[in-house]
Amino acid sequence: QVSDALAKEGPSSPSYDWFQTDSLVTIVIYTKQKDINLDSIIVDHQDNSFRAETVIKDYSYIMHVGLSHEVEEDFSVRVVENVGKIEIVLKKKETTSWKRLGHPLENHNSLIPRKDTGLYYRKCQLISKEGVTHDTKLFCLMLPPSAHLQVPIGQHVYLKLTITGTEIVKPYTPVSDFLLSEFKEPVLLNNKYIYFLIKIYPDGLFTPELDHLQIGDSVSLSNPEGNFKTSQFQELEDLFLLAAGTGFTPMVKILNYALTNKPSLRKVKLMFFNKTEDDIIWRSQLEKLAFKDKRFDVEFVLSAPTSEWNGKRGHISPALLSEFLKRSLDKSKVLICICGPTPFTEQGIRLLHELNFSKDEIHSFTA
Ligand code: FAD
Ligand code: NAD
Repeated sequence: QVSDALAKEGPSSPSYDWFQTDSLVTIVIYTKQKDINLDSIIVDHQDNSFRAETVIKDYSYIMHVGLSHEVEEDFSVRVVENVGKIEIVLKKKETTSWKRLGHPLENHNSLIPRKDTGLYYRKCQLISKEGVTHDTKLFCLMLPPSAHLQVPIGQHVYLKLTITGTEIVKPYTPVSDFLLSEFKEPVLLNNKYIYFLIKIYPDGLFTPELDHLQIGDSVSLSNPEGNFKTSQFQELEDLFLLAAGTGFTPMVKILNYALTNKPSLRKVKLMFFNKTEDDIIWRSQLEKLAFKDKRFDVEFVLSAPTSEWNGKRGHISPALLSEFLKRSLDKSKVLICICGPTPFTEQGIRLLHELNFSKDEIHSFTA
């Protein structure tokens, strides 16, 4: 009962402090948590408003002040993981001594459930747009220097555009460029670029507008959201990924993380459902990865193939799944991730339960 009460109250509230030199103002957030990293902190300053949101489990600690003096646009963020301390260093525009940091703005110095924080947006710039398939493109957005934000594995953000006077918002899942790394220079400007694979629907509301943007135009991007946790990988032995169409997007970072950070994994398998061969995103890159890393296998399943296709056909089905989801050992610890059109995901979950996989062994990506 005691632990129930604690769970209801949430984590103990962080606190903050600040100090200055002639040229710098350092804000320190004491999170009182150890599992804090650069993904946990989102910082924005626009004009003189400074906002830092620290994500602690299902809560956000918000610091939000109108700064008393002007600062330069860029700043640095550092996390001292073993003591759970975050330091944000702002550069003063003038070397005056500040008597106070500023005045409190909305939700300042409060710990609130993440679901109640509302979406906070900053404007990003479109840096590049490259065709990947006949209807899917890789978009690269750049965060402004006045923002620090990293999208954790398995989470999505919302993109917002104003279309004929109305704000339209849709969720998208950033991908990493690890499958492209052979073809590209290493990423400059650490963590300032966010990549998206987005399918353009000619009669869609949002994607045609996104597609019409010119390089240099801006798009608003929200804080990350989602309930995937990398702790689901603990001691994992077999990882199965079921993706349909752009439901492939969350699998990109998951693949990268699993294959580079999880030596306990014996097998990582992706079953990728598409309508036709032309719809398969990054097919040759996936095949190369399977060739390079013996733990990884990929299988493509087409629902509307041409007569030449000699691979697997059809929709998600008991026969396809029972053949694909073989544990590498009788009692291997498994995780199955599933993402795609809602009927695909719902049917998949139903079939997985019928095959006796438990809730804890399944992670589905939905809105
Ligand atoms: P919409 O206007 O929503 O239309 C899409 C298609 O459906 C069109 O062909 C349209 O004609 C048809 N349609 C619309 N309404 C109806 C209706 N009532 N009946 C029948 N057909 C209809 N997409 C990506 O490409 N990449 C991602 O990384 C990605 N991540 C996502 C993450 C999450 C958490 C979720 C929930 C979705 C994600 N999506 C992603 C999908 C994305 O959010 C949009 O739904 C998608 O881009 C379509 O938006 P749109 O406004 O262009 O199209
Ligand atoms: P698509 O229409 O090209 O279909 C891809 C495959 O999905 C098909 O080949 C088929 O195997 C399967 N499929 C489609 N409809 C089905 C049905 N009714 N029943 C069973 N299987 C079916 O897919 P798309 O246009 O790329 O759409 C991808 C979907 O994934 C979108 O709805 C998008 O919102 C969703 N998505 C969700 C997330 C998330 O929730 N995190 C992330 C990315 C994409």
